[in-house]
Amino acid sequence: MPQQVQTRAAVFLDRDGTIIEEVNYLRDSAEVRIIPAAIEGLLILQEHFPLVIITNQAGIARGYLDENQLDQIHGHLRALLAQSGISLAGIYYCPHHPQAGYPPYRRNCRCRKPKQGMLLAAAADLALDLSVSYTIGDKLSDIAAGKSAGTHTILVRTGYGKGHEHQISREGIFPDYISDDLLDAAAWIMESQGRLTKRR
Ligand SMILES: [Zn+2]
Repeated sequence: MPQQVQTRAAVFLDRDGTIIEEVNYLRDSAEVRIIPAAIEGLLILQEHFPLVIITNQAGIARGYLDENQLDQIHGHLRALLAQSGISLAGIYYCPHHPQAGYPPYRRNCRCRKPKQGMLLAAAADLALDLSVSYTIGDKLSDIAAGKSAGTHTILVRTGYGKGHEHQISREGIFPDYISDDLLDAAAWIMESQGRLTKRR
């Protein structure tokens, strides 16, 4: 008999404007500020799901920071989250931009959201079932990536979220839910889980 690989649901999270305060091209650990409601939301979600950050970091292609600096920022973010008892299953970033900078970073990659490459890579690495997973972000590019990968999607009103909420109809990219923040998103996910369980 072929060996069954156990897959599981995950929550994919945008970084800037969703977990941490939006800063235009954040390049210094000192600029990392976690949104308070994000802590509460992540504490709930991590009881049930692996948490995976997926983030476009075109600042690398643009030469604003290099990958070592980005690793330091992510180390600092992990340390801040750990102080609240939160641990991430992974952080995936896209350093590319289709027009800015120079190769290898200037290219039409498959990972830059709204493409779904980072979600597919994480699903392969961590044995995740995308069809029962969730994507949360403050931009419609997050929602588009999550939908392309086959996940449920939630637009948060933090970061750029309120502005992007107004563009939903024009862009034709409809999230499954719109939440005030990550805590509200976590509550909706837990409630939708309850509904699914009751239906069985
Ligand atoms: Zn990329």
